[in-house]
Amino acid sequence: MIDSATVAGSTDTPRPAGTTAAPVAAVTAPASVAAARGGFVLRARHVLTMGAQGQVRDGAVAVVDGRIAAVDDDATVRARFPDLPVLGDGGGILIPGLVSSHGHFSEGLVTGIGETHTLWEWFVHVVEPIEDVLTREMAYVGTLLKATELALSGVTTAADMFCSAPGTAPVTPGVVDALDQVGIRGDVSFGPSDLPHARPVDRILAEHHALAEAAERSRRTRFRVGLATVPASSDALLAATRSLLADVPRLHVHLHEVREEVTASRTSRRASSIEFAASLGLLDAQTVAAHCVWLSDADIALLRRHEVAVAHCPISNMILASGVCQVPRLLRERVPVGLGVDGAASNDSQNMLETVKAAALLQKVHHQQADILSAPAVLRMATLGGARALGLEDTIGSLEVGKAADLVLFAEASPSMAFVHDPYQAVVYCAGPRDIAGVWVDGERIVADARILTTDIAAVLPQARDLAVELATRAGLHSELAGIPSADH
Ligand SMILES: [Zn+2]
Repeated sequence: MIDSATVAGSTDTPRPAGTTAAPVAAVTAPASVAAARGGFVLRARHVLTMGAQGQVRDGAVAVVDGRIAAVDDDATVRARFPDLPVLGDGGGILIPGLVSSHGHFSEGLVTGIGETHTLWEWFVHVVEPIEDVLTREMAYVGTLLKATELALSGVTTAADMFCSAPGTAPVTPGVVDALDQVGIRGDVSFGPSDLPHARPVDRILAEHHALAEAAERSRRTRFRVGLATVPASSDALLAATRSLLADVPRLHVHLHEVREEVTASRTSRRASSIEFAASLGLLDAQTVAAHCVWLSDADIALLRRHEVAVAHCPISNMILASGVCQVPRLLRERVPVGLGVDGAASNDSQNMLETVKAAALLQKVHHQQADILSAPAVLRMATLGGARALGLEDTIGSLEVGKAADLVLFAEASPSMAFVHDPYQAVVYCAGPRDIAGVWVDGERIVADARILTTDIAAVLPQARDLAVELATRAGLHSELAGIPSADH
């Protein structure tokens, strides 16, 4: 039995860090690890709260016990908290931590393969072959790499759906172990399918339960029920999923990523995936639905009625030539929209700042309209929109008193950020991971000057390379590393 109360509580409760491997550097020295955890004031020339306060010029955030205690102009905050150490030189841009609302750590070791495929071909040639081969060690190491890449691009919360074939031993707890080490917040799910390849539902349930138990023990990760797609699920799997949702009423699912999915669902079940999922009651849960590219008016009405949130993944939609999500229309119709990096095999980077920029560019070129989606609107999707998509808007997503101190500071000390005419446009169009001076989760600093502090990632790389070769070889992927050159070059 998965207990929704205990599982749900884990994300909201800051817990002491126990895995910091490297010393914590200050934006401006000196500041100790103890001071950073006990409380601090972080100042910046531009504080983009993404909340009701809007933008605060020459602002600061006070952090006490991992939570935001004040957001105001620098002088006011420092007068209220005179004993707290002050971080930052007063320059730069401070934003809430970015939220990636959809991804697959299961693809952490298979980046840069299969560029010529559309979704279903890519699934058959890249994803399906690795599903039987993935191990808990591969899940752990792949997540270490990709969660680090996310953190270095300003992500403090990542929603994940691990897709693998359930075996005799659970694999997905490796994801939670790695997230705990890196220190970002996780909203984790297992994304099963059992069509066209039959898979025992009891093994699928065992994997869900193993992940839920691991999340319950973790410091910042919570469990969510996952389902790969509706057409790839048997009636038995859909019924089992509905039972799980009675205990944990949160769902992560792909919906209407490509036209083929809609066609397959209409052919086999005489309804679109959205219509069929709604008829089964699956969308009554707090649902984050990846993609939602191919939508009818009736589908959009159902999304709105069930308050389903869309995780928009512009880069994988472009790489797989899936289509263009109707983001402006969804926002107009008040469907919550967050942004996701999607999996490491269909993006193929996990650089959230690329996703933020691509979300703006894709709509501009698709509509041939430069003002179709503003930089503040895009940054809102990447922060508060993502938080809403995960049902976490009371905890994260904006710089507001009482919320978790999940913070990203962009420095001015770089060629790309030396001057800022418009802070929203600077973040969306100019910034890269190298410009990130600091990332904090629950007030714990996990990134300083574009370096991850919580894990010795250089020491992991040789192991990651060995596991990537093993995975590619056993799955028969085209990989020069594994001695099987690509057929495309
Ligand atoms: Zn996906």
